[in-house]
Amino acid sequence: MAKYMSMDNLRFVLHEMLNVEELCNLPRFSEYDKDSFDILLDSVKGAADQYMYPTFRDCDHDPARFEDGKVIVHESVDTMMKQAGENGTIGMTFDYEVGGMQLPHTVEVACGHIAEAANNNLTGYTGLTNGSANLIVTFGSQELIDTYVPKMLAGKWGGTMCLTEPQAGSSLSDISTSAKLNDDGSYNIVGQKIFISGGDHEYCDNFVHLVLARIEGAPAGTKGISLFVVPKNRIQEDQSLTSNDVITAGDFQKMGQRGYCTTHLVFGEKDDCKGWLVGPENKGLKCMFQMMNAARIDVGCTAASVATAAYYASLQYAKERPQGRRILSGGVKNVEAEQTTIINHPDVRRMLLLQKSVIEGSLALLLQCSKYQDLAEHGPEDTRTQNHDLLELLTPIAKTYPSEMGRVSISNGLQIFGGYGFCTEFPLEQYYRDIRIMSLYEGTTGIQSLDLLGRKVVSKNGEAMKLLTKEMIETIKSASNYDDLKPYAEKLKEASKTLESTLMHLLQFAMNGQHERYIADATIFMELMSNVTIAWQWLKMATVAKTALVTGNMTFGSEFYENKIHTMKFYYKYELPKIFSASETLKHKDSLTILEENKAVLA
Ligand SMILES: Cc1cc2nc3c(=O)[nH]c(=O)nc-3n(C[C@H](O)[C@H](O)[C@H](O)COP(=O)(O)OP(=O)(O)OC[C@H]3O[C@@H](n4cnc5c(N)ncnc54)[C@H](O)[C@@H]3O)c2cc1C
Repeated sequence: MAKYMSMDNLRFVLHEMLNVEELCNLPRFSEYDKDSFDILLDSVKGAADQYMYPTFRDCDHDPARFEDGKVIVHESVDTMMKQAGENGTIGMTFDYEVGGMQLPHTVEVACGHIAEAANNNLTGYTGLTNGSANLIVTFGSQELIDTYVPKMLAGKWGGTMCLTEPQAGSSLSDISTSAKLNDDGSYNIVGQKIFISGGDHEYCDNFVHLVLARIEGAPAGTKGISLFVVPKNRIQEDQSLTSNDVITAGDFQKMGQRGYCTTHLVFGEKDDCKGWLVGPENKGLKCMFQMMNAARIDVGCTAASVATAAYYASLQYAKERPQGRRILSGGVKNVEAEQTTIINHPDVRRMLLLQKSVIEGSLALLLQCSKYQDLAEHGPEDTRTQNHDLLELLTPIAKTYPSEMGRVSISNGLQIFGGYGFCTEFPLEQYYRDIRIMSLYEGTTGIQSLDLLGRKVVSKNGEAMKLLTKEMIETIKSASNYDDLKPYAEKLKEASKTLESTLMHLLQFAMNGQHERYIADATIFMELMSNVTIAWQWLKMATVAKTALVTGNMTFGSEFYENKIHTMKFYYKYELPKIFSASETLKHKDSLTILEENKAVLA
C-alpha cells in the first residue's frame, strides 16, 4: 500500500514537540498514558489501511447521489459508522457518563489526521455526528441527551449542522427558517437548508439535525436565532420511528469530496416537523459556535491531511520517474549517462520541500491548537483563560492556512507528476479537487479573515496577541541556545515585529472611524499572520529536533531530525520573506478595492 501519511511525524509532534502525555497528569485524562495513546493511534491506522485508503478512489468514481428519493453513498460509509460506533471513537472526547472515552482533543485530532489522509470523503460522516452530539450534551436537556446521544455515539444515527439557506450563507443573520411553540413544548419548524453535509443516506436509521431557526417574534439578526434538535424521524412511545416531515429534496453534485453527500433538506412542508430547543431562546448562534469552532479545526486538519497524502504520492512518483540529467559542474550535461529520477532536480526538490513545509507546519499548528483546547477546558484553573484566548485567536488561522496553502502545495505536487498529474490514472487530481472545498465551508477564507482582523486580534484589548507574542518569544529563546538556529530565531523576531507594526498601522484606520479601510485587506493580513505563525511552529520543531540530535535522545533515526531542520530552513528562505510584500500591500496608501460612488471600476 502506498504511504499516505507519516506515523513518525505524527508521533514526533505529539510526544516530542507537544509532550501530549503531560495531559495525563490532569484528573480528566488520568486513566491514559503515552502507550495507550499510541495503541489507539495504531488501531486507527489499522482501520484506515484496511478499508479507508483502499476505498478513497471508489468514493470519487461512485459518488454520493440522489436516486428515487434516496441518497446513495458508498458502502464504506456503512463500515465506518459501524466500526466507529463499536469502538467508541465517535465520542472519543465525551465524558464517561455519556458513553465517551474522555480522551484529549489533541489525540482526537491526531486520529482524525490519519483517517482524513486515508480517505477524506468518509470522515465527515462521523465528524458531524460527533459535533452535533456534543452540542446536545453541552446545551441540551437530560431528556434530549438520553433520547439522541447514545444512538449517535453508537453510529446508528447520523448528526448534521443545518445553518445555510439559499439567501443566508456567510451572513447567518439572514436565516428565515421559522419555529413556532407548540403546547407540548416542542416547536413547529418550517424552512429549508441547503448544502447539508451527511444529511441523509441509507446506512443510518435516523438523522439528528441541529438546526438554526427563528422563533416567532424573535428580534431580527443574529440576536433572534435559536438552536433546535430536529430529527428526520420522531421517536414514538414504543421507541419506533415515524416521519418528522423532513424531506430530502436532492444531493448537490460537486467537483470534489464526491463521496461525502451534500443534501438539500426541506423542513415542515406538511406543517408536521417538530423540533426541540437546545440552549436558551435566541442564543442559538452562540451555542452553534461550539460546533463551528471545532469544525474549523477539523476542516483545517482535513486540508492538512489531504495535502499530506498528496505529498507522499508526489514523493513516491519523484523517486521513480526518470527524466533528464543533472547539470554537472561546468554546466555540461552528460547525454550518454542514464536519465536521473526527477527527485534529483532542484526545482522538483523545491516543490517537494514546499509541500513538506506546508503539511508538517499545518499539522503542528493544529495539534498545538488542540492542546490549547484541552488545557482551556481541563487544565489548571489559572491557565484556562489564556489557553482559551490563544485557541480563539489561532482558530481562523488553523482553518485557513492548511486550506489555502494545502491547495497550493497539492498544485505543486500535481506539477511534479507532469502531464500525468492532470490525468485520472493518478490520485493528485482528486486530492486537488477534494481540498478545494476547505477554503469555502465552515466560513470562507474571506469570512475567517474578517474574524481574525475584525474580532480576534483586537479582543480583550489585544490580550491574545500579547500571549501569542509571548509564546513566540519562548520559542525564540530556546532556539537561540543553538548557534546554527540563532539566525532563524532572529528572523522570527523580525517577522513578529513586522506583524505587530502592520497591525498598528491598520488599527489607526479603525481608530479614525475608517472601518471598511481597516478591514478591506483582511485576507492579506491573514496571509501575513498565518505565515508568521507557521514560521513559529517550524522554529519550535527545529529546536526540538536539534535538541534530540545534540543529546542523542532520539526516537527516530538522525535523518528524521536533520530533515526537520532542513525543512525549517526551506520555510524561512522561501516562504517567510513573503510577509514583507504582504505588509507593504497592507500599508499601501491606495485603497483600490473599496467601492467608490460613481466609479465603475469593475466594468
Ligand atoms: C460541499 C459543501 C458542504 C457544506 N456543508 C454545510 C453543512 O453541513 N451545513 C451548513 O450549514 N452549511 C454547509 N455548507 C455551506 C457553506 O458553509 C457555505 O457555502 C459557505 O459558508 C459560504 O456561503 P455561500 O455559499 O452562501 O456564499 P456567500 O456567503 O454568498 O459568499 C460568496 C463570496 O462572497 C464573500 N463574502 C460574503 N460576505 C462577505 C462579507 N461580508 N465580506 C467579505 N466577503 C464576503 C465570501 O467570502 C465568498 O467569497 C456547505 C457548502 C458546501 C459547498
